[in-house]
Amino acid sequence: MNPATERNYDLHCHSTSSDGELSPTALVQHAARQGVQVMALTDHDVTDGLAEAAAEAEKLGIGFISGVEISVTWQTHLIHIVGLNFDPANEALQQGLAGLRLKRQTRGDEIAQKLAKLGIEDALAGAQAYANGEILSRTHFAKFLVESGRVKTFQSAFDRYLATGKPAYAACEWCTLEEALGWIQGAGGVAVIAHPARYKLSATKLRALIGDFKALGGLGFEVISGSQGVQENHNMADYARRHELQASVGSDFHGPSQTWLGMGRIGPLPKGLVPVWHDWGIATAEMPA
Ligand SMILES: [Zn+2]
Ligand SMILES: [Zn+2]
Repeated sequence: MNPATERNYDLHCHSTSSDGELSPTALVQHAARQGVQVMALTDHDVTDGLAEAAAEAEKLGIGFISGVEISVTWQTHLIHIVGLNFDPANEALQQGLAGLRLKRQTRGDEIAQKLAKLGIEDALAGAQAYANGEILSRTHFAKFLVESGRVKTFQSAFDRYLATGKPAYAACEWCTLEEALGWIQGAGGVAVIAHPARYKLSATKLRALIGDFKALGGLGFEVISGSQGVQENHNMADYARRHELQASVGSDFHGPSQTWLGMGRIGPLPKGLVPVWHDWGIATAEMPA
């Protein structure tokens, strides 16, 4: 990264408001220590952590952008759409997110019932203990399965029980792409396809997703994600250039125990890309000439 021309952005991470390990305050402190200069907090289907994170960011003098990561069912795939730089008070957005949280709760109940049938009792209470009263996700069930000795690793919790097609998998119809983009854009924000390489879509499918996304006014594409490999980031940069999508970057940091790239380690944007933040006041006002 060339600090004279580029600031250190991280526009994708999670706090305890969803399935992250750090509180919003601790997360922002961590980001600042890692050298992040502009960050967005993007919890799953919830914006509850934004106010706390924004206050801490202001204290520490780092730029803060409102964010959320919305669960979308597109065709048969679960796709994550990140919303950035929107008004969190927007009513339609909040109603939409509340509906998604309800679906998450119902799905949590279903996963627990399936685990009970497999002889693993108390999974709901166990997972909820890790969720601390916040949004219940498969991550919390995976933690419970590891900590209670049912499986050795986080990955094996998914491979044996929780992943698509496994015995404790519960299908869920999330919102549509149209709904997610409607809520984000209606609240003045920009929509971004999160970690596009992680869905393992064929080139034809990924082009179809981008086509649908752009037809709905979608602008952003997470070219660099901590949860994608270097070659995948490179390929995604090609897609962004070819389809004239604005590039976003994010670590998808969930906490110190994760194995992938942490915050502040994203590196420069590949050449020939327009960053999603190019017309945000925060970047132009503070970027050195
Ligand atoms: Zn995601
Ligand atoms: Zn994420």
